Amino acid sequence: MTDSTNSTSVSSASQIHCNAMTVDVEDYYQVSAFVPYVERSAWDNHESRVVANTDRILALFEQYNVKGTFFTLGWVAERHPDLIRRIVDGGHELASHGWDHIMVTKLSREEFSEDIRRSKQMLEDAGGVEIQGYRAPSYSFTKKNEWAHTVLAEQGYRYSSSVAPIKHDLYGIPDAKRFANPQADGQIIELPITTTQIAGRNLPCGGGGWFRLYPYALSRWAINRVHKQDNERAIFYFHPWEIDPQQPRIEGLDLRTRFRHYQNLSQMEGRVERLLRDFKWGTMEAVFASELTGKQNTTS
Ligand SMILES: [Zn+2]
Repeated sequence: MTDSTNSTSVSSASQIHCNAMTVDVEDYYQVSAFVPYVERSAWDNHESRVVANTDRILALFEQYNVKGTFFTLGWVAERHPDLIRRIVDGGHELASHGWDHIMVTKLSREEFSEDIRRSKQMLEDAGGVEIQGYRAPSYSFTKKNEWAHTVLAEQGYRYSSSVAPIKHDLYGIPDAKRFANPQADGQIIELPITTTQIAGRNLPCGGGGWFRLYPYALSRWAINRVHKQDNERAIFYFHPWEIDPQQPRIEGLDLRTRFRHYQNLSQMEGRVERLLRDFKWGTMEAVFASELTGKQNTTS
């Protein structure tokens, strides 16, 4: 499979299912893999690229008439309220990615509660809209923090997209449910990042490094497989820094971290464009409207 495969093989299933397009709005120096290399207290010393990169995504979405969900750090909203207003004015959904990208596995229940309260408030003040959704930094809902969904419901969130039903060295709950499921006694819906099942194993096909490292045609095949085999909608995510090959390099990274972060950055924007062309996309709250209003098993 190569990146040059044309679009004629896209099945009709691609056009029936409206999938959720999401962006995790954070800057290149804030990723979890850089925690050992970049002091959180020194974040403001780094060149900020998140505004320019997110504006490029907004322009791209407008070009393809796609509305998406922007899971945004409270830390970013505090410094760039104009960007938050542009996201909302573009007709997109604003949602929370926590305050400053501390993985939930590193927080106590009380610290997590404060993190999601503060980020919700900041985003609501900047955007003038109610925040319903949350995505944990690095999909860090694991078996160690099973209280997390309850705390989200307590703070007024209606859905979470924080579970990766995969085996990974940094995150994931390999045996978690793969699609929309109620949590915290039905007070909140979990919408896990999309996987496809092959030989009993869940493989990620909803974005991240996987999308950048492997040929585009493999991702398209996997998303089509989710439509056909599971009769489900996909949730895709990417980051503003992934379409920015010119971003300043962080020094001293170990080989694996360097590879994962920088590989194929120059191809990313073109691949996202192909996704926008090949599938139908909407916001989380639009695509999963039936689940969020309590009516299950209805595809859009
Ligand atoms: Zn993130």
